[in-house]
Amino acid sequence: MSSGSDESGPIPDIAANLAAVKEKVSAAAVANGRDEGAVTLVAVGKTFFAPRLEPAILAGQRVFGENRVQESEEKWPALKEAHPDIVLHLIGPLQRNKVKKAVALFDVIETVDREKLARAIANEIQSSGRDVSVFLQVNTGAEPQKAGVLPDEIDDFVQTCQQDLGLKVRGLMCIPPINEEPALHFGLLRELARRNGLTELSMGMSGDFETAIRFGATHVRVGSAIFGERKKAPAA
Ligand SMILES: *Cc1c(COP(=O)(O)O)cnc(C)c1O
Repeated sequence: MSSGSDESGPIPDIAANLAAVKEKVSAAAVANGRDEGAVTLVAVGKTFFAPRLEPAILAGQRVFGENRVQESEEKWPALKEAHPDIVLHLIGPLQRNKVKKAVALFDVIETVDREKLARAIANEIQSSGRDVSVFLQVNTGAEPQKAGVLPDEIDDFVQTCQQDLGLKVRGLMCIPPINEEPALHFGLLRELARRNGLTELSMGMSGDFETAIRFGATHVRVGSAIFGERKKAPAA
C-alpha cells in the first residue's frame, strides 16, 4: 500500500503514546468519580496511513476518528476487513453528496449540524440498512466560520433528528474556539445535552482531553498525542 501523504519523519512509538494517553484518560475518569472505562478514546488518524495506524490497532485500539470521507476510503476498508470490530467515527464536516459513502464506511457520524444533512443521513441509513448512530455538532462559540448548530437552536434540532427523522442521537459534540478557555464550552455542551436528555458528550482533543473528562466527556478525540504531529495541511 502506498503511504500517500503520510509523514516522512521518524515514526514515534505509537504503542507507548497510546498507553500513556489511555492511562491519562482512565485516571481523569477515576478522579472525576467515574469508572475507569467510562470514557471512550477515539484515536484520530487523519493524515496518517496504515503504517502509522497499525501499531495502534495491534495494541488493541479499536475506535478511530477521521475528518475526511475520501481519505478514509483510501485506508479504512482494508483495515476494517482485517479487524471487523473497528468502530469508525466521522469527526469532520460532511457534504450531502458524500452521505452515501459516509454511511457505508462510518459507524458513528459526529458532525450532524443541519436538517438537510440529517435527513439525507436518515434516508441513507434506511435504504442501506446500516447501523449508524450520530452526535449533533454544536458551535458553542457561535463562530461564523465554524460548523455546528447554534446553542439556542439545539433543542429543536435534537427533536427533529430524534422524532421526525428517527436518527439514533447518542449525544452532542463540540470543538471549542482556539483561543478561549475550553472549560466554558465543555460546561455549556454538558448543559445542552442534559436538558435534552442526552448522555454522551464528544469533547476534548490532545491538548484538553483531561479538562473535557472533568466536564463529563464520554468520548475524547485524540490525534497528535498518539500518532505524532501532523504536517500542516490546508484548512479542512
Ligand atoms: C484533528 C481533530 C482532533 C484531534 O486533534 P489533536 O489535537 O491532534 O488531538 C479532534 N477533533 C477533531 C474534530 C479534529 O479534526
